[in-house]
Amino acid sequence: MRPQAAQASGGRGKMHLLAVRKTNRTIVLPVILLIAAAALAIAILLSWSGARTDSISLERQEQMLSSTVDTLALDLATSLEGHAIWDDAVLQTHKKPLDRAWLESVYGQYMFSTRGRGESYLLDSADQPYFAARAGTHVGLDSYAERRALVAPRAARLRRMMLHPAANIAYRKWKIPTIVDIVNVHGKPAALILQPIVSETGRIVQKPGTEHVWAFFYWLDARNLQKIASQFDLGPVRFSWTADHGRKEAVRPIYASGSAQPAGYFVWRPFTPGTIVLRDMIPPLVAALALVAAIVFLLIRRIRHSTAELVASEEQAKHLAFHDTLTGLPNRALFDDRIDRALATGRRAPQRGGALLFLDVDRFKQVNDTLGHAAGDDLIREVSRRLSRVVRESDTVARLGGDEFAIIQTDVRSKREIDQLCRRILKAIDAPFDVLGSQIFVGMSIGVARIGRDGHDRHELARKADIALYQAKQAGRGCYRVFAREMDASVRMRQSIEQDLRIALEKGGQLEVYYQPKYDVRSRQISGVEALIRWHHPNQGLLCPNLFIPIAEESGLIESLGEWVLTEVCKAALPWPLEAVAVNISAVQLRNPLFAQRVIRILHDTGLDPHRLDLEITETSFLENVEQCRANLKLLRLAGVRISLDDFGTGYSSFSHLREYEVDRLKIDRSFTNAIDESADGSAIIRAIISLAQSSGLKVTAEGVETAEQSHFLSDVGCDELQGFLMSGPVPLPELDRLLGLDPEIRNPGGRRLAA
Ligand code: C2E
Ligand code: CA
Ligand code: CA
Repeated sequence: MRPQAAQASGGRGKMHLLAVRKTNRTIVLPVILLIAAAALAIAILLSWSGARTDSISLERQEQMLSSTVDTLALDLATSLEGHAIWDDAVLQTHKKPLDRAWLESVYGQYMFSTRGRGESYLLDSADQPYFAARAGTHVGLDSYAERRALVAPRAARLRRMMLHPAANIAYRKWKIPTIVDIVNVHGKPAALILQPIVSETGRIVQKPGTEHVWAFFYWLDARNLQKIASQFDLGPVRFSWTADHGRKEAVRPIYASGSAQPAGYFVWRPFTPGTIVLRDMIPPLVAALALVAAIVFLLIRRIRHSTAELVASEEQAKHLAFHDTLTGLPNRALFDDRIDRALATGRRAPQRGGALLFLDVDRFKQVNDTLGHAAGDDLIREVSRRLSRVVRESDTVARLGGDEFAIIQTDVRSKREIDQLCRRILKAIDAPFDVLGSQIFVGMSIGVARIGRDGHDRHELARKADIALYQAKQAGRGCYRVFAREMDASVRMRQSIEQDLRIALEKGGQLEVYYQPKYDVRSRQISGVEALIRWHHPNQGLLCPNLFIPIAEESGLIESLGEWVLTEVCKAALPWPLEAVAVNISAVQLRNPLFAQRVIRILHDTGLDPHRLDLEITETSFLENVEQCRANLKLLRLAGVRISLDDFGTGYSSFSHLREYEVDRLKIDRSFTNAIDESADGSAIIRAIISLAQSSGLKVTAEGVETAEQSHFLSDVGCDELQGFLMSGPVPLPELDRLLGLDPEIRNPGGRRLAA
């Protein structure tokens, strides 16, 4: 993965995590708390309602039980009454001898089967027992001895009650004097009921107080009590002498007839519908809760997922906003941010510096113009890939637009590291590019400014990296320059020159055209002149064109400068007895589609014969906008203007394209003339150029002739024209006029000069 991409995806992952954390904080936690609170509320409500239901139910049970206990006596009594108030019973109990089987079936078995476990004793009018039954079976009378202490006093009390006058009335209403008591039979609780046996119809009259008595022990044991309890829908009931009871039990006192003191207690495990309901509800409730939790969990996951998606799309939008669509590299906005950060880091840790690299693809425009935009895009993409490969992961490669790239190199400890990176970049770009099927070569110019050292803010740094880049391009492209203070000075100088030149062109009076004669080899006479501009700078004195022509070309001032020179020269040349006058034309001028027309217009305006104008152009003019240059040249040649190829031999394609240029003359560059004295090679090259020119029908001028040897050699090898300090340097117009033997009056019909 490319470092840039790795960085970006790493950053995206981090954002993801942050988003998830944020959802946790803003959604998950509150939801979990809410569910927990709801569960707690439900639990509290349920247990409260359970407890409430239980307590209501207990109250009811107590009521029921109390009525049970209250009615127990009555109930027992009334159930006994059937056997106590009965004419047959009176007769049977007085029968002699007694029918024990009858007594057993009525007071034994029947009671046993209907009421449960108990003991029956029948006493005669003297309270003497004559029948005993236990658990429904007739037993010996000696068993009464064990119960006498409990029965005798109560029988006596019953007889006193029977003597009471109200007792008789009660007989008729099925209400007879009855004693019901809770007694302790050797630790076993029992209800002891005593009733007299009386006539139901009243036909058998007994003397009150002499009636037989039936004593019935009813055991308050578990089995009997359960019988009662089940009648009232109670849980298991037991009898207790004390009020002590278990945690889950309820207790209810039992009072014996005529006593305010509890004779014992019923203890039972109360029926707790609330608890039961609660217990029954717990599993479905837990299930429902689990379901809710699961749904919430799924919902949260969904939310998290969509949050993550949202973050991702937001990230993508951000990515688009901060990245170049063609290459995916950071764009200017992100680059600005990164450079600010690098500057901040530089301030904090100056020893860990950084560098800002501005990079420009050389000849990119040519690729775009000749191969099309798709090819240009392809090239840019491949350049960005190569750049990304040579930088470190912490470095930033950005595309600022067009063929401009920038790199922020971080953690730079020495200049050597900058040099190494620049060399790596140049090497990577040097390799041929496969663009839409064709192999092309481009170069790269790099300008470097050091973070902190060369600037503490983005703009200052960018300005200096730009200056360094400019210097790199000036140095011939395909190289890098690290900003140095002198560069800044030179840039400032360029700016001031540009400004001054603008003023000079507007105001006039500072620019002057000098003329350098060219000599015919054979006649040794002046055969032509070359116009060379001079600038009398108000502060800096006489300035040479090499200093300001490139600035004029860059700023566009060359167009008006060129027109001014051309006009001056055409005017000056009118009276000369010369075949032609040469004017230097910059590549920038030649690229202008209107150039030829302008030249023709000037010729027309000044009246100079087009055949007498010789335009010197350099081969490098053809490097860009070939078509435009050709069109201009064609038009000019049609008009009769001559064309010379200046500085011949220094360009790229000299020999191969000579014919295509359609020129009249070659000017051998000064460097070859210089080389004549120094090496055989120099001479050989000149020989080759001249023979090539001759075979193409071109005239040859040698420039920079400074020595007699050079002059002789050039004459010998067939050069047509010589130009150089040996004969004459560039001279002002009056001087040339003098050299040409012109009357000064010719320029000054008014005779001002004479008068002076
Ligand atoms: P160039 O066209 O190659 O002009 C010849 C340069 O060589 C001139 O420099 C001239 O003074 C110099 N020179 C002539 N003989 C000798 C010699 O024997 N030895 C040495 N060392 N130098 C010699 P100059 O006038 O400084 O012009 C420099 C360049 O500026 C010219 O090079 C030309 O390219 C450009 N230039 C001058 N005037 C104009 C102009 O009006 N328009 C444009 N576009 N360019 C101009
Ligand atoms: Ca020239
Ligand atoms: Ca030249």
